[in-house]
This record gives sequence, C-alpha cells and structure tokens, in this order.
Amino acid sequence: MESLDKKESLKFGIMGGTFNPIHYGHLVTAEEAFNQFKLDKVIFMPSAAPPHKKDEKIISADDRYLMTVLAVASNKHFSVSSLEIERGGYSYTVDTINALKKRLAPNSKIYFITGADAILEILTWKEPHKLIDFCDFIAATRPGYNLGKFREVFSYDDWQKFKSKISFMEIPALAISSTAIRERIRKGRSVRYLLPDNVIDYISKNRLYIEGD
Ligand code: ATP
Ligand code: MG
Repeated sequence: MESLDKKESLKFGIMGGTFNPIHYGHLVTAEEAFNQFKLDKVIFMPSAAPPHKKDEKIISADDRYLMTVLAVASNKHFSVSSLEIERGGYSYTVDTINALKKRLAPNSKIYFITGADAILEILTWKEPHKLIDFCDFIAATRPGYNLGKFREVFSYDDWQKFKSKISFMEIPALAISSTAIRERIRKGRSVRYLLPDNVIDYISKNRLYIEGD
C-alpha cells in the first residue's frame, strides 16, 4: 500500500469485489478501464463481508486476498489493498472511498470500476448520494447492453445527477463469473483459461471450492 501514501495527484481505479475467486472477467475489465480512462493505477479491493452476500458461504478473506495478489502480480499498474479486509465487518463502498480519500493527495481522482448491473442497484447501497459526490464510476457493459434499464431504475432528478458521474465502458463479452467457476470446480470440470494458472494452482493446492460454496 506504499503507493497510496505518495502525496501526488493520480487517477486511481478501484476494482471492488468478492474475488471468490478472481477471474479473467475482472482482469480484462480493470485493464480496459486502465487504458480507456488513462488511469495511473488500478487497486483491487477484496471485500471483507459483502453486505449483499450475507447468506452465502464465502471462503476466508486471506485466501481471496492471496489469489487476487497472485492474479495481479505480473501487471505493474495493478495492486491489491487489504483496507476492507483489515477493517472487517460489512464492506460498504462509501466507507472505503472515504478512507481512501483521506490517504490520497487532495486532487487525486477516484474511479470506482464495476459491472453495469451493479450500478443499477446503487440506490440500495449505503449513502449513494454521498458516494456519487466522492468518486466517478466506470460501468462495464457487454457489447449491445441496453442502457434503457437505467432510466427505469432512477427518478428523473437522480438520473440527471448520477449520469454525469457514470461512464460506460464496453468490454468484450465475457460470460465468466466466480459462481460458475466454483460450480465447475465442484463438479471436477476444467477451469483452465477462465482464470490465471497460478490462481488455479492455489485453488488445487488448498483444495478450495471442492465442497459447498
Ligand atoms: P459471483 O458470481 O460470486 O457474484 P462475480 O464473478 O460476479 O462473482 P464479483 O467479485 O462479485 O465477481 O465481482 C466484482 C466486480 O466485477 C463487480 O463489479 C462485477 O460486476 C464485476 N464482474 C464480475 N464478472 C465480470 C465479468 N465477467 N466481466 C466484467 N465484469 C465482471
Ligand atoms: Mg457478482
């Protein structure tokens, strides 16, 4: 985390997620955001306990953190933060961005990178209006994604405010999800080419996802 303490103004992308496990969908999205938005750094932020996944069994935060470190190790623009895991409890984006802002130079800019589907639910997140004042959003969509859904979810006034802070970014269709990867591992099917080899090796070595979820 030394990079966060440098007192220079930079453009940071924050890629939040459960990363249970991290896969190429996450990595391609971060890489595309890095290039399209000319970011200086992308910080992957594995959550402690995601508020919307309370009922799911999730493997330890340490395993999710270590797999994320393995996945980004070869990219000098990517790093991993343990801020949410160290804070513990439920991880709310507004608290995370607030904590990051205190550590960065005052004119640094934060872009929160997420799937467009997650943005559709942003009004259910903790303090969405405060959050949208704190940072910009990069919403990843698949080619042909229908933005019409956004007009249905937001009131006219909210949409006027939110749309100025959300940029949409088309990424190649990637039908990869952690849920599908966990299921494939449980069934003994190959997950090669869906996530980095060193993460697959870590999963096998530690016998993760073999039983339950
Ligand atoms: P799960 O299936 O357990 O929900 P997931 O694959 O959706 O896992 P998360 O850790 O929940 O992964 O996602 C972290 C972030 O990455 C979210 O913003 C999500 O929208 C985005 N994301 C997940 N999968 C993809 C993908 N294939 N392409 C682009 N973005 C993705
Ligand atoms: Mg998800």
